[in-house]
Amino acid sequence: MKRDLTSLAAGELDLVVVGGGIYGAVAAYDAAQRGLSVALVERDDFGAGVSWHSLKTIHGGMRYLQKAALGRLRESARERRTFLRIAPDLVRPLPFVVPTRGHGTTGREALAVALHLNNWLTRDRNHGLPEGKHIPDGRTVSAREALDLVPGLDPRGLTGAALWSDAQAVSTERLTLAFVLAAAASGARVANHAEVVAVLRSKGRVVGVAVRDRLRADTGEVHARMVLNAAGPGADEVLAQAGLRRTPGPLLRARNLVLRRAPSLPHAVGARSRGRFLFLVPWQGRTLVGTDYEPAEASSSDPRAFLAEADRAFPWASLADAEVALVHEGLVPGRGGPAGIATRPRLHDHEREDALPGLVSLQGVKYTTARSVAERAIDLVLRRLGRPPVACRTASTPLPRARALEGDLEGRTREAVRDEMALTLADAVLRRLDLGTGGDPADEDLSVVGAVMATELGWDETRQRREREALAETWPAPGDGKGAAGSC
Ligand SMILES: Cc1cc2nc3c(=O)[nH]c(=O)nc-3n(C[C@H](O)[C@H](O)[C@H](O)COP(=O)(O)OP(=O)(O)OC[C@H]3O[C@@H](n4cnc5c(N)ncnc54)[C@H](O)[C@@H]3O)c2cc1C
Repeated sequence: MKRDLTSLAAGELDLVVVGGGIYGAVAAYDAAQRGLSVALVERDDFGAGVSWHSLKTIHGGMRYLQKAALGRLRESARERRTFLRIAPDLVRPLPFVVPTRGHGTTGREALAVALHLNNWLTRDRNHGLPEGKHIPDGRTVSAREALDLVPGLDPRGLTGAALWSDAQAVSTERLTLAFVLAAAASGARVANHAEVVAVLRSKGRVVGVAVRDRLRADTGEVHARMVLNAAGPGADEVLAQAGLRRTPGPLLRARNLVLRRAPSLPHAVGARSRGRFLFLVPWQGRTLVGTDYEPAEASSSDPRAFLAEADRAFPWASLADAEVALVHEGLVPGRGGPAGIATRPRLHDHEREDALPGLVSLQGVKYTTARSVAERAIDLVLRRLGRPPVACRTASTPLPRARALEGDLEGRTREAVRDEMALTLADAVLRRLDLGTGGDPADEDLSVVGAVMATELGWDETRQRREREALAETWPAPGDGKGAAGSC
C-alpha cells in the first residue's frame, strides 16, 4: 500500500471517501470491491479518530431488547458473526457476567427472560462459524455460581448472575487497517495525513474535494462524481465546507480507562452505576473500564473521578489506586447522558435532503455495525451514480491481512513503513505494531522502531526527537490524573 497523492488527483474518480475510521475504511473497501474507482483520504492516520477509543466490544445487540428494537438487535448479532467469520485472528468470543440483586427489572428472573429471548432472536448467530468462534446461549446462574465467577462479590442480596457472550476485537487498530489494506488491494487509492480542506462544487453539485497533504503542507484537488462524508465527529465540518450549514448534531463525550494491571478474571464483569452499566473488561493482559458518558460541551473531567466511581461499582476489584495506563476519549452521537446515546446510524442523501447532488454522509453509532451501514451507503452511491446494483461481498469475503504483523520488531517496523503506510512514530507504535495500545511501550522497543523509521524515511535527529515527543502525548504522565487521549 503506497501513498501517492499525485495519482490520487489524476482523472475523475467515481467516489472519494472522507475519513479513514472504521466506517470510511469499510466503505472504501466495499466500493472498490464493487468495481468503483475510489479514493480514501484521512487527515490523521487510519483509525486514529473515535475508532481508536472503542471498548473493543463487538456487540451482539442485546441492549436493543430494552427498546424492543429487534431489527437493530438482529443486525448487531449478524455483524458480530460477520466479524468473527471474516477476521477470526482479530475477533474472539468473550463471556460477560452481570451479578443480579433483588427481583426487580434488573433482577435474575427478568434477565433470564431477556437472555432466553435474545438466544431465540439470535438463534442463527453461529451459522457458518467454526466451533471455537461460537457464541453460546446466554443463561442465568445461582448466587453460589455468581460468587465462583466473581470471587469477593458482596453476597448480601445477591440472587445470581446473568452470563452471556459477546465478541471482542483483539486490536481495533489492526482491524480498521485491514479494511484499508483490503481497499488498496482492491484498487482504491488511499492516503493518510491527507485532510479535506474544501468540498468542490460546480453547477450545483459536489464534484470532489481539495486535500491538504499534512506532511508536506501542499494542497491538491481530487475530482470525483460522488463524495462520501465518513468523517465521524468531523462530519459537520465537511458539510460546512460543502456549503451546508446545519445545526451540528448533539454529541456525547465517551470515555474508557485502560488500567495497567492484569485482569483478575478471564471474563468481563458488569455493574450498574448511576443508572447505566459499567464493565471491567480483560483485554491484552490489561483491564479496560468503560464506558462513561457526559455532554460533549462539559469540560473534560479528571479520569480519577471515573476511576473512583468504578471502584464503588466493583468493590471486589479494589480499583482505587489502580494505575491508569491510557485514557480513551471520543465523541459519539447522543444527547444529555448515557441514556441519550444514539442507537440509530444515519445515512444522509444530500441530493434528496438538501438538493445537493454528489454528496452522501454517514454517521455511525457503533464500531460493530460499520460494515452493514457502509454497505447501505455504497448501495446509495451506486444508485446515485446510475450504476446497476452490484452485490456487496464484504460480509462473505475473508478479510485479508486481518492479523498482527509477525517477525522481529525491526522486520515488522519495516513492513509497517513499506507496506502499511506508517509515516509517523505514532502510526507505527499505536496502530501497526500494537506496542502502545495498552500503555507506554518499553524504551528499547521505541528505540528500535524509531531507528528503523529514521532509516526508511530519512529522519534526522530533530525529527526523531519530535516524533518521540508527539507520541509521548498519548499516555498519562506519571502522577498526572488527567492523561491524554488520542485525537477524535
Ligand atoms: C470511549 C468509546 C468507547 C466505545 N466503545 C465501543 C464498543 O465497545 N463497541 C462498539 O461497537 N463501538 C464503540 N464505540 C463507538 C465506535 O468507536 C464508533 O462508533 C466508531 O469508531 C466511529 O467510527 P467512524 O469511522 O465513524 O469515526 P472515526 O473513527 O472518528 O473516523 C472518522 C475519521 O475521519 C477523519 N476526518 C475528520 N475530518 C476529516 C477531514 N476533513 N479530512 C479527512 N479526514 C477527516 C478523522 O481523523 C477520523 O479518523 C465507542 C466509542 C467511544 C468513544
